Amino acid sequence: VKGYGQSIYGHKYFEYARFFRKIALEIENNPESIMQYKSHPAIQELVMDQTSTCLERVQRLEALCYGDAGVMLACPGPSLSGLIIREIGDEEQKQYFFDFVQSTSARTLFALTEPDFGSEAGHIQSRIKPKTVDTFELSCKKCLFGNGAAASIGVVLVKASEGPLGMRAILLTPDHLNEVNKITRKKLNCFALIGAQLSYLECENLEIDSKNILGMHLNPLRSGMMAIITTFNQMRPGVAAIALGHAQAVWDYLYSHANNRKRLQQIEMDGLLSQLKSIRQYLHQTANQVDKSPRVQVYSSMAKQMATLIAEKISQTAIKYFGLSLFIDHPILAKWIRDVYAYEYMEGTTYVQLQNIFNHYKTSVAQGGY
Ligand SMILES: Cc1cc2nc3c(=O)[nH]c(=O)nc-3n(C[C@H](O)[C@H](O)[C@H](O)COP(=O)(O)OP(=O)(O)OC[C@H]3O[C@@H](n4cnc5c(N)ncnc54)[C@H](O)[C@@H]3O)c2cc1C
Repeated sequence: VKGYGQSIYGHKYFEYARFFRKIALEIENNPESIMQYKSHPAIQELVMDQTSTCLERVQRLEALCYGDAGVMLACPGPSLSGLIIREIGDEEQKQYFFDFVQSTSARTLFALTEPDFGSEAGHIQSRIKPKTVDTFELSCKKCLFGNGAAASIGVVLVKASEGPLGMRAILLTPDHLNEVNKITRKKLNCFALIGAQLSYLECENLEIDSKNILGMHLNPLRSGMMAIITTFNQMRPGVAAIALGHAQAVWDYLYSHANNRKRLQQIEMDGLLSQLKSIRQYLHQTANQVDKSPRVQVYSSMAKQMATLIAEKISQTAIKYFGLSLFIDHPILAKWIRDVYAYEYMEGTTYVQLQNIFNHYKTSVAQGGY
């Protein structure tokens, strides 16, 4: 594919992206087959990540999703669980989790969203309650989280009590996830971004050791809602990067396959390309900002909603240009057109991001900032 991928991402990541694109339709057909490729250096880079900055993650995720986002999301690696463990895990929890993920190339899950209460952390109903001095019982229903049925380790978010200080992140080990009588996991039928393997999990009175509760060594202010907000601020630029890589892939594809340049509105394409460039620049600044002050929410919300929007806009341009033949003659593009609408929901919809931005503005005005 001609276009800007190679110059934006550099040789190594461009080659990784080419590999992801080569296996994209295979993984869409059977996400499980990702494990055949687990020793590929692109996948090992994800698996071994333990210390990346937000900026490094953003650059890597954009490049890999220029290849194919479905493949990237199917991959093993610490992913979102790794971020919350880095944020609030104690040394033993960190060592156990990262050793396990790296030595087995494990897929991981991170479950906040619930079937009845969505992903608004304050409303979740999943609970842990004390059983003995250092054991608890976990009862939860979670849905729409990536790799849930395939993962061998991961984190679920629950409440130990009402209020923001009652939030807890629980590390589920392979032993918990294999308790077939107490835990049910299944893959959900999906139409888009099938590689993400969105799943459902339910468990009743699953015994949890206190050492599996993250952040017990911290005060509840740091391990509760604040940890969730901080972790989501670190994740959200990643979703923006996924959408941006996808958007650049569709742009490059359109550019190199549009054989009738007169019909392809050159001005429209130039406009979209400059939007891609400026959103990328903004995203990198955001990631830098998150590395410096991970509690500030507003920039990552802005970046996420802008990247989602440009990915959808470029996809609509592709539909306009190719028409229905796209779905017959361009299978990878047809896949991307299906996948693109998932980004709106990952890490919160546009309305929710805009509300974050508005709340920040309101607080700044109240403090005399604007
Ligand atoms: C590919 C993919 C991967 C995902 N991965 C994970 C994962 O790994 N872990 C996980 O826990 N979840 C995951 N999710 C779930 C995702 O985070 C939620 O679906 C998303 O945050 C939307 O939340 P919700 O379903 O609660 O919808 P809601 O937030 O309830 O939104 C429903 C509708 O109401 C609107 N709305 C909501 N609140 C307001 C408001 N205050 N004002 C105005 N309108 C509002 C929304 O815009 C939307 O149109 C994933 C989802 C997808 C699609």
